[in-house]
Amino acid sequence: MNADTWLSQLQSNGYRLTDSRRAVVEAVAGTSRALTPLEVFDLARPHCDGLGLVTVYRTLEKLEELRLIERVHQAHGCQAFIAAGNGHEHLLLCIRCGSAVRFGGDDLDLLIAGISEKTGYKVKEHWLQLFGLCQNCSE
Ligand SMILES: [Zn+2]
Ligand SMILES: [Zn+2]
Repeated sequence: MNADTWLSQLQSNGYRLTDSRRAVVEAVAGTSRALTPLEVFDLARPHCDGLGLVTVYRTLEKLEELRLIERVHQAHGCQAFIAAGNGHEHLLLCIRCGSAVRFGGDDLDLLIAGISEKTGYKVKEHWLQLFGLCQNCSE
């Protein structure tokens, strides 16, 4: 992910580019695992003395609104974020170290058609996230 692209999107949506926002954006864009706001804060603070936690939350909120990052669901809640994928993809997360990969090509049509038939719902969208142990963690 390219931090500059995110920064210019923030800017074109009326956000001034402060050092704090830049530090937050660079922390998230430069990390391939899911980060909680506190982890973002810890990563970004060395690059920006005056950074406050409120700015971290607000910047993450804005990035989520712009669909540049997405919320990651975890056993203890849905507070972590990760750079958004391209198009329709799903996340596979390591429950031990938090590293994440994306996968596409899910074949859920049959399952969804069955559920649709049973419930009478027209299914419009789905959300899927898998958890496991990455290669490093399962050794
Ligand atoms: Zn792992
Ligand atoms: Zn899917």
